Amino acid sequence: MKTFGDVHRHLISYSIRPSVQRTAVMGYLMNHKTHPTVDEIYLALSPEIPTLSKTTVYNTLNLLLEKGAVQMLTIDEKNARFDADTSKHAHFYCRQCGKVYDIFDVNAEMYKLPVIPGFKVDTVEISYYGTCKSCLGH
Ligand code: ZN
Ligand code: MN
Repeated sequence: MKTFGDVHRHLISYSIRPSVQRTAVMGYLMNHKTHPTVDEIYLALSPEIPTLSKTTVYNTLNLLLEKGAVQMLTIDEKNARFDADTSKHAHFYCRQCGKVYDIFDVNAEMYKLPVIPGFKVDTVEISYYGTCKSCLGH
């Protein structure tokens, strides 16, 4: 569990001024590795911060994204998902339960930027789709 101080230091390391809202949103993402949506973050935080609006959560996430403190996943076509872990890792989307899992044991070769004549590739995103362990009953 990341403390308020940890989150504060983390924001400052990304040159982000740690306001109450920013600290709450960043802290939520650092402590919940479930790749939450804007709505989930808003619903989770609004009881502790009654003045929080969905727009503020949205704008805060955009700032965190811009500064590179979080990444946005487009793996779920219905909702953008957010991840405080910006290290190289793949994701698995379960079509049954909608959970997004981290997959760390992916061959490093798969993250290599391909050479496509006439294009400049700067990002490789690895998304897998299927049914998760718990939905399969394992
Ligand atoms: Zn599942
Ligand atoms: Mn992740």
